[in-house]
Amino acid sequence: MVASCRHADLVAAAGPYAQLVAAQRRHVCGATREGTGKAASLGAIFQPDGERQMAAVLIKNGRIVTAVDDYQADILIEDGRIRTIGQGLVVGNQVETHDASGLLVMPGGIDVHTHLDWDFGVARTVDTFGTGTKAAAFGGTTTVIDFCNQTRGASPLVGLEDWHRRAASASVDVGAHMIMLDVNDQSLTDMQTLIRREGVTSFKLFMAYPGVLMLDDGALFKAMRLAGGHGAMICVHAENGQVIQVLVEEAVAAGRVAPKYHSLTRPTSMEGEATHRAIKIAELAETPLYVVHLSAREALAAVAEARDAGLPVHAETCPHYLFLTQEKYDRPEFDGAKYVMTPPLRDANHQQALWRGLSTNDLQVISTDHCPFCFNEQLFGMKFSKQQGKDDFSKIPNGAPGIETRLPLVYDGGVRQRGLSLNRFVALTATNPAKLFGLFPKKGTIAVGSDGDIVLFDPRVTWTIRASEHHSRVDYSLFEGHTLTGSVKKVFLRGQLIVDGKDWHGREGMGEFLRRGACGTL
Ligand SMILES: [Zn+2]
Repeated sequence: MVASCRHADLVAAAGPYAQLVAAQRRHVCGATREGTGKAASLGAIFQPDGERQMAAVLIKNGRIVTAVDDYQADILIEDGRIRTIGQGLVVGNQVETHDASGLLVMPGGIDVHTHLDWDFGVARTVDTFGTGTKAAAFGGTTTVIDFCNQTRGASPLVGLEDWHRRAASASVDVGAHMIMLDVNDQSLTDMQTLIRREGVTSFKLFMAYPGVLMLDDGALFKAMRLAGGHGAMICVHAENGQVIQVLVEEAVAAGRVAPKYHSLTRPTSMEGEATHRAIKIAELAETPLYVVHLSAREALAAVAEARDAGLPVHAETCPHYLFLTQEKYDRPEFDGAKYVMTPPLRDANHQQALWRGLSTNDLQVISTDHCPFCFNEQLFGMKFSKQQGKDDFSKIPNGAPGIETRLPLVYDGGVRQRGLSLNRFVALTATNPAKLFGLFPKKGTIAVGSDGDIVLFDPRVTWTIRASEHHSRVDYSLFEGHTLTGSVKKVFLRGQLIVDGKDWHGREGMGEFLRRGACGTL
């Protein structure tokens, strides 16, 4: 069903959710979305330039690709921001110059789904913010939005403080989503403080992991209603946690304990059911919704139906769902444990549906869900590797790495092999995440005034993924041995060269915290 444009004027005086829905409906029928109120948040992001002068950088002769443009030009970055874009720019000797002939010049990638240095009770991820964001940078990602969490019985503001301490070592710019575990009067008040004062404008709610992370539907509804009224985005992990718990307990009791039972106890229909439920509750709560790590055709169908109805519903998928299938769980020994993430890998039919969703804009973002647990015990002072689940799949820490390989994988598998346009590639990996999570146009594009976060990408280089060459502390890659064409050559963070081939010029702690504005819709 395509909604009509005729009612657009009637909602001008309505609340923010009604305006969002109307904006989405105008989008459906082809009109522009200007004037929806989203621009109001940008004043907080675009501050006038200060007096401080940093070294100027010129990137010349490159092919600039954004979500909408594709042209040859030079870029002059001063004081961390793009100052001028033009052809044949003439600068003085003091300007550091990089020749980008033959290279794609794209905005730095934005990965909105990572779990760095994260303790979720039974396991802890092995990357610090320093190592995880350095790995991100080598993969062309210059902004990460990571998950911090409330502890039950404590304020989410305390969780944010703890996250800030850990995130201080970040080498690229970082923002935070807040995982809400207790929804009560005080935490609902704290959510408003997070949005207005702390620049944390998105919240994650779990419908899976009962007794650990899961919220019931009433709590979902309350948190969603608060977010929708304050310009925030609700992110959901959509799986029916209680039904899955029954299946897991039955499998373990019957002695079905190999890694493949992780996949067999998390059916796609239960992802579809929860996605549909989340959408319905969000509609009633009048909030925009973002479904994280969508993996199943049924879930995609629910998102597509909602979007066709004009609802501000969005979804991301991850490279592992686009390039790997559930046969990985049949690998010998305990190797299948490397692929134990949630949701699990699916079959090829689901994979094809995801690629279609990327091209039809029912999926708007590709993130990594980088959640690194070592396969073997390492010397990090933590005994939290995949080996915990050697005799019981339900004890395998759920999560897998991927922060360093997102851009090259999607370029090779999407642009080169499946005809994804370069503009769409940039939209999925940088521009859409920036727009949805309150960072655009400071991040996510190449434009005068935007941060000088730039990736020089060589589309001709062929290379092979090896965990031994990664910068993450994790000891394996989901994509070990995959040969790709297209490679990150240089990366600039706010005009500073941080990656030059295999050389690291960044430093831990140089990443800035991103106080985000109101979230947008697409
Ligand atoms: Zn995750």
